[in-house]
Amino acid sequence: MISANICRRLGKLRNLRTRLLFFPLGSSYFTTAWLSNQILKPDKMNIILMGPPGAGKTSVGRIVGCRLGMPVIDIDDDVLERTWGMNVADKLSEVGGDRFIEEEGKAVCRFTATGSVISLTGSNPLHQDSMQHLKRSGLIVYLDVDAEDIMQRLTTMKVNRIVGQDASVCMRDILRYRNQFYEKWLDARVLCGTGDSVEDVAKKVLKTLDRYNDSESESFISTRSKNNVASDPKFFSDVVVEGLAPDGGLYVPKNGFPKLEPSEWLRIANMPYATRAMAILENCIHPMDLSPVELSAMLNRAYGQNFCNKSVVPLKHLSDNQYILELFHGPTASFKDLALQLMPQLFAHCLPPMCNYLILVATSGDTGGAVLKGFSNLKDTDLERIGVLVFFPENGVSEIQKLQMTGFQKGNARSIGVLSDFDFCQKSIKRMFGDSSLMGHIAVEYATVLSTANSINWARLLPQVVYHCSAYMDLLKNRVLTFGDPIDVCIPTGNFGNAMSALYAKQMGIPIRKVVCASNHNCVISDFIASGEYDLRGRKLFVSNSPAIDILKSSNLERFIHHVSGGDGHLVRDLFFNLEKGQVFKVSEALLQKINMEVEAGWCSEDDCLKAIHDVHRRTGYIMDTHTAVGKVVASRIHDNTCPLVLCSTAHHGKFASAVLKALRCQNIPQDPIEQLDKLCTIGGQQQMHEALLKCLRNSKDHPYKICQADFNVLSEEVETMIQDSFMKVQ
Ligand SMILES: *Cc1c(COP(=O)(O)O)cnc(C)c1O
Repeated sequence: MISANICRRLGKLRNLRTRLLFFPLGSSYFTTAWLSNQILKPDKMNIILMGPPGAGKTSVGRIVGCRLGMPVIDIDDDVLERTWGMNVADKLSEVGGDRFIEEEGKAVCRFTATGSVISLTGSNPLHQDSMQHLKRSGLIVYLDVDAEDIMQRLTTMKVNRIVGQDASVCMRDILRYRNQFYEKWLDARVLCGTGDSVEDVAKKVLKTLDRYNDSESESFISTRSKNNVASDPKFFSDVVVEGLAPDGGLYVPKNGFPKLEPSEWLRIANMPYATRAMAILENCIHPMDLSPVELSAMLNRAYGQNFCNKSVVPLKHLSDNQYILELFHGPTASFKDLALQLMPQLFAHCLPPMCNYLILVATSGDTGGAVLKGFSNLKDTDLERIGVLVFFPENGVSEIQKLQMTGFQKGNARSIGVLSDFDFCQKSIKRMFGDSSLMGHIAVEYATVLSTANSINWARLLPQVVYHCSAYMDLLKNRVLTFGDPIDVCIPTGNFGNAMSALYAKQMGIPIRKVVCASNHNCVISDFIASGEYDLRGRKLFVSNSPAIDILKSSNLERFIHHVSGGDGHLVRDLFFNLEKGQVFKVSEALLQKINMEVEAGWCSEDDCLKAIHDVHRRTGYIMDTHTAVGKVVASRIHDNTCPLVLCSTAHHGKFASAVLKALRCQNIPQDPIEQLDKLCTIGGQQQMHEALLKCLRNSKDHPYKICQADFNVLSEEVETMIQDSFMKVQ
């Protein structure tokens, strides 16, 4: 029931806040204003169907009303014609389009109903006041039908003009114009497929209503929870803010991912990336946690101008049955941008208000730049209360990675070089979290909570599901396959986040046959997938040309084992306890078989990686980065060529310029990263260069930045300094 649910949810969030704020800040900090949903008694609530003419609002409304035993009201017949005492078409020709919308709005404002199914007219949503009035009375469900389908239906219905359309505007344009109003008012969307019958749509509406009323079913559990029962259910907002579960496990959705129907996928295939993301993610985040309207605004912000390719993640044919999914067109040129352009916004939304958050990050590579860029793009009001401070080892990151971070020296996103290694940066941050007097001081003096945004956070994994779906949509759109045909996906794998999100895309209905995980010579993951044994004993990290997948502990693997074991929290707990204690675990033969149904793996030597870059360039002119090349080598070795293979290109080749130049057998490789990129430009041509990367390096060159001693106290002083001068002052 909606009211109970919301009340419970409000209680929930209050709990969350008291847990989060370790120190009593006074109850005035606890407001619920950021929860936008209104509270309404469920039996009084209207169900309001909205959509363009021809969407089926009236017929669907009748079926839904009948199923739910609710009276049905048709705005056209039951409100407008009665109020005006005349036929709607006559009124329209009498007063004209603009006046009509005004009069229609006035009539709707005077109308009240409760507990009914209401079918709107196509033009209602153009009138602000009347829509606000309706929205307060219930839930607005948008019947989202493809514009081409609408055009066809209108032709069949012999409708050639609709309200607000004068002779100079074509039907397609007016439908597009109206769409923004539907998107503005909806509480829930029903994605209608081509060929869906009225009954199909009614069924989807009922399912949507069920989902809206039952947010309980979309709770999260820890990968280590016993019997899959959480005594204290966690919701999206909780898990985004908490990151890690209290028992040390990672959060996963209790009931897995929702499965979309083929007709829905076919609709999604025709959408641009941000809209695809919307259609997919609104099924994965309960509207009670984040309204679709807000989600849509976030997605447009995340996947708009920040990506230098208008497809966001273009899919390119490489050779035979292999396709490259370019995930590097974001501002920092690695696939981490796909998550980190959205994650900060989700984080800001879920955080309790009236409190500042400083996110501390230790980085040895691509994460630093992507996090800084993501958090610096927040809305003004969030910039004042959410900041990020990155510590990087002064001599432990590449020149290019350093330049991507050192540009951030003021405002809410800053980076500091530390005269030590990654380990020291990481440990110092952990020590700050454990230092209750420091945490207390920061909370009391500045109303600030320290937080992290690492890769195990659900809000970082979830956005990645979209691009795997998107790759399949592109194959569909280009008629390489028809819906249902399988594909394989190959991923250079480190923390297993990218691979895990491909498996979630599969759960949503994308026919992925195998996920192929590729390692370099630090191959603990591929050894595990081959043998069932995860063995860290005596394993050391080797230097490689693909440092982003140099990994010992692959954090998201825990989610995978939870997934393939059918959610066996006991097992996960035991295995990772063994890993902690004895540096090794082994899964049963039966589980290994299940693992091998989902994933395959292989590893690639340094020589093979460089050779692949050279060979592919020689044959096709395409330049891969070193991580992509690791994937390419493993894919070509394993793939049986019976279906298309999507190779995830996780970084732009310019980001690992010196290794790529070496692979291309370039003579006299320059030291300076900008000269290296210029050289790559000469080889690959301007169109293969990453403009944002080049620009960022040029702007940051010779930019002064802070370097500090390897001293815990110095680092904590930096934290305090940043809080003092970047957050809004607390009175
Ligand atoms: C982070 C990263 C990876 C590893 O991704 P996981 O999700 O940790 O497996 C691969 N390639 C590049 C370029 C990266 O930055």
